[in-house]
Parts: sequence; C-alpha cells; structure tokens
Amino acid sequence: MSMLKTEVAVVGGGPAGLTAALALANAGIKTALITKSPPQDDHRTTFLLLASVSALQALGAWQRCERQAAALRRMRIVDDTARLLRTPELTFDAAEIGLEAFGYNVHNRDLLNALDETARDLNASLVRIDSGAQTIVTNEHEATVALENGDEVSARLVIAADGRRSLCRSAAGIESDVHGYPQTALTFNLSHVRAHDNTSTEFHSPQGPFTLVPLPGRKSSLVFVSDPATAESMAELDDSALAGELERRAHSILGKFTLEPGRGVFALTMQTARRFASARIALIGEAAHVLPPIGAQGLNLGLRDAATVAEIVVDARRAGQDVGGDAVLERYDTARRPDVTSRTLAVDTLNRTLLSDFLPLQAAKQLSFFLMRTVGPLRRAAMREGVSPALSQPRLMRGETL
Ligand SMILES: Cc1cc2nc3c(=O)[nH]c(=O)nc-3n(C[C@H](O)[C@H](O)[C@H](O)COP(=O)(O)OP(=O)(O)OC[C@H]3O[C@@H](n4cnc5c(N)ncnc54)[C@H](O)[C@@H]3O)c2cc1C
Repeated sequence: MSMLKTEVAVVGGGPAGLTAALALANAGIKTALITKSPPQDDHRTTFLLLASVSALQALGAWQRCERQAAALRRMRIVDDTARLLRTPELTFDAAEIGLEAFGYNVHNRDLLNALDETARDLNASLVRIDSGAQTIVTNEHEATVALENGDEVSARLVIAADGRRSLCRSAAGIESDVHGYPQTALTFNLSHVRAHDNTSTEFHSPQGPFTLVPLPGRKSSLVFVSDPATAESMAELDDSALAGELERRAHSILGKFTLEPGRGVFALTMQTARRFASARIALIGEAAHVLPPIGAQGLNLGLRDAATVAEIVVDARRAGQDVGGDAVLERYDTARRPDVTSRTLAVDTLNRTLLSDFLPLQAAKQLSFFLMRTVGPLRRAAMREGVSPALSQPRLMRGETL
C-alpha cells in the first residue's frame, strides 16, 4: 500500500473533474486526479456555450477537439403543439449580439479525449491515478481517500466530480433533493440530405422538446424528449423505420435522415445537492446537480463549477489559507448557489410549460415569446445572458488563466 500526499484530490475523470484538475494543476496546485474509466458507449454530444469553450481554450484542451465540433450560429424554436394558444416561431441569431456563434456542439468522446490528452501532458503538477475511490474519511486537517487498488491519497480538499451517484457527496454527509419527470430522453446522431446551416431547431411538443443540434458536415445530434410509452415504441423500430419517424417529427426540415450507430435512453431527473461543499469536500458537475437535458445546461453549469472551485482554491492558496477549510467551502457554496438555482428553475419551468395545458401558463409563454420576438433589446439581453450568465463569470470562463 502506498500513501500519496497532495493539496487537492479530484475524484472522477468525467468532463467536470478533468476541467477542475487541469485548471488547478495549470495554476501550480499539487493535484491528484482519481479516475475510473468512463463508460465506452456514450454516443451523446454536448452543446458547449461560448464561455465554456473559452475556459477549455484557456486550458489548452479545446484546440484538441475544435475540428470535430460544429458552430451553432442560430437557434430556432418552433411550437409544434396543436394548442389553442400557440407561441410564434422564435429565432435567435448570434450575429445580432456581435458573436460568430452561441457555442459549439461536440461528441462527448472527442471532448473527453481532448481533456484527457491535455491532462496527460501536465504530469509535473497533476498526478493521475487510474483507480476508483472506495471510501473517504475527513478530519479537521485533511481528507483521506482509500482507493480500490489498496493505495491511499490524502489531501486538504477533495473535489467530488464522481457523477450523480457520488460517493464523495455521501462521505460529506450532503443530501440531495431529487425529482423525476414522466418523460424519457432519447438521443440519436443522424446524417441528413439538407445542410443545417449551423442552426439548431427545437420543436416544442406537448411531451417535451425535440431538438436537432448541428454537427460537422450534414450531420446533427438529436435529443428527443417524450413520454415513456412513445420512447418504448421507438425502441422497437429498426433503424430505417425509426429514421422515417424522426424525419416526420422534424417536418423534413433537413430532408431524409439516416441513423448513425448508437442510440441513448435517459430517464428525466432533476437532482440538487442541499449544499455544494462540506467537510473538506466540494461538489462539482453532476455530483452537485443533475438537470434534464433541456436547454443544454448540465455540463455548462458543471464547467462553471469547475472554473469557480479552481479560482477560489488558487486565490486561497496564494493568500496562504487552508484550501479545504470552512471559509473556502463556504465561499464556493455561496458562489454557486444563485447560478445553479436560476438554471434549475428555468429548465424546470420551461419543461412544465410544455407539459401543461393550463391556459394562463400558455398565455404567459405566448406573451414572453411575442416580446422576445418583437423587442430587440429584450431579445439581445436574453441571448447575452444565455451565452455568458451574469451570476457566474469566473476568470476561466472569460478565457483568462488562473
Ligand atoms: C441526453 C443528454 C444530453 C445532454 N446534453 C448536454 C448538452 O448539450 N450540454 C450540456 O451542457 N450538458 C448536457 N448534458 C449533461 C451532461 O452530459 C452532464 O452534465 C455531464 O456529462 C456530467 O459530467 P460530470 O463530469 O459531472 O459527470 P460524469 O460524466 O458522470 O463523470 C463522472 C466520472 O466519475 C467517475 N467515477 C464515479 N465514481 C467514481 C469513484 N468512486 N472513483 C473514481 N471515479 C469515479 C465515473 O467513472 C465518470 O468518469 C446532457 C445530458 C444528457 C443525459
């Protein structure tokens, strides 16, 4: 058995954990990254907002996957319900706020590879340990992580990036509020006959959104949120019948679809930790919050967690403070709460307005879409807030190194 002593231990080598580890190690903080191999069957893509891309660029990771990513320049929202009060079609154009794109859509595997390769190049200040964390014990001075391979790592601070069933969150004694929705998200990658013109299209149906997001070339990813019965009937279709059904639901806007390998099925859940830090453990990414895949918020929030915790730790270290002490944990919790709460609320509200037939709610949605369509300053403010949330602008998200 060996014992490694370090300043910070990051548990979990998903995108949030890798980003936090890179940010800390780049700033000279002695960091250990404790990782189990990620699932190999993830065919999903992630839409990254411009601020997330800036952070990855500042860490040197974006440069390794940008050629595999597609820019998203326009977002179209179409009411695809047969309701009495239908909302007008809404298009947001990045050029209207002087940007080339709102962000980029990239395969999860390409993003993870890029982060992973960047981490492997940083071996001076980042120790990588390929073993799962088994138990975590904390005391007044340090946290000790016992690994599956029998070794131990002790650190001033543990950053929990170990996903929605976080062992670290349990070790910190933090509970989560969990809410399930009567919906399932199906994910597909498609090639199509017509060009997407770097435009995403979100059809709002009474079961949830059906969102096509551009990939490089004549390809798109699709997140189709539906009721579980529809999801089950889709699962029974062969590729060609399914492609036809999806094309019908997309009103053939991209012409004929051909399915690429890899279908995904995800139950819709919302999960929020009651605190984001306690007992020398700070939660980031899905260890802290799980959002339904509506509006592409999950990992963008997770990367803001990573950028924020890294900034607070680096500043504390430079001020000679204990990087896992209560003052640092409190600062992190306070910094993340408003951003996570507002995004969680926004996603939940949008989803509920889609599911509900309640007329006053539909009227409110119709009014807000009408105002957004006709009042330029309001529309531009919404776009700016979407790209760069006022409640969370850590230095890394502004493209600055720590
Ligand atoms: C259908 C769908 C579409 C989505 N689309 C988007 C999108 O477009 N934009 C967006 O921003 N977000 C999106 N999301 C959300 C996004 O996928 C998640 O927020 C993100 O993957 C979470 O990353 P993470 O690093 O926090 O966790 P994970 O990716 O779950 O990584 C956790 C890691 O920890 C490791 N681990 C677990 N336990 C241990 C242990 N004991 N010891 C060591 N390691 C451990 C795991 O092996 C894994 O590698 C989507 C989600 C879904 C379901």
